Parts: sequence; C-alpha cells; structure tokens
Amino acid sequence: MAAETIFSKIIRREIPSEIVFQDDQVTAFRDINPQAPVHILIVPNRWIPTANDVGADDEQLLGHLFVVASQIAAQQGIAESGYRLLVNCNRDGGQEVFHLHLHLLGGRQLGPMLLRQS
Ligand code: 5GP
Repeated sequence: MAAETIFSKIIRREIPSEIVFQDDQVTAFRDINPQAPVHILIVPNRWIPTANDVGADDEQLLGHLFVVASQIAAQQGIAESGYRLLVNCNRDGGQEVFHLHLHLLGGRQLGPMLLRQS
C-alpha cells in the first residue's frame, strides 16, 4: 500500500508552498521546479495515488479540477495565449509524486507535446 505524499502536507499547509487557490476539494500551488513561466499543480485534497485509481465517485471532483484549472489560467493571464494541462501516470508516464495532479503549463510556446517518439 502506497503512502500519502508531500502534497498532502502542502494541502494541510504543514510545509510551505506558493498556494494560488484552495477550496474544500482542491488545492493549486506553484511547481517547485517550473518547466514554464506558469507551472501550477492542481491537486485533489483527497488522496488519489494515480489516474489508475480514479473511480466513478471521483467524477464531480475531477470535473471541478478542470473548472479550477480554467479559472487559474484566466487569473494568470494565459487563457487566450494558451496552455497545456497534463497528468502523468506511473513509470512510463513519468509520474514522480503519487498523488494525482493536473499540471497547468503556459506563458511560453510549449512546442510539441512529446519530445520524441519511438
Ligand atoms: P509528476 O512527475 O509526478 O507528474 O510531477 C510532480 C511535480 O511535483 C514535479 O513537477 C515536481 O517539480 C513537483 N514537486 C515535487 N515536490 C514538490 C514540492 O515539495 N513542492 C512543490 N511545489 N512541487 C513539488
């Protein structure tokens, strides 16, 4: 059984981070190692380890995640220029933190979705 991650401590404000939005369902904070001028992680407050663990009970929560993402994109001034939302899952997806999260990336031309294909 996997254990909760550092993101739970950020959500509970037990360790510092730059939180840009929080409500009773989700928390959004700036990535510690940003890959773009805007790089914000939007995280369910409830621990869901990976996209594989999403169930029917999570439909409302994950819809809310996208609503919050679009609101933050507008607040950050990147809604019109555009942005990327992505979720990594497990090893091949490059997931490092096993608490489901949506990356919101923007503020520059992000280029092709994948670096290379093989
Ligand atoms: P993943 O690869 O799991 O999709 O992405 C995890 C992200 O979490 C990475 O972009 C990484 O920089 C970020 N991250 C890891 N630890 C911390 C932390 O303690 N604080 C913040 N703000 N971001 C973190």
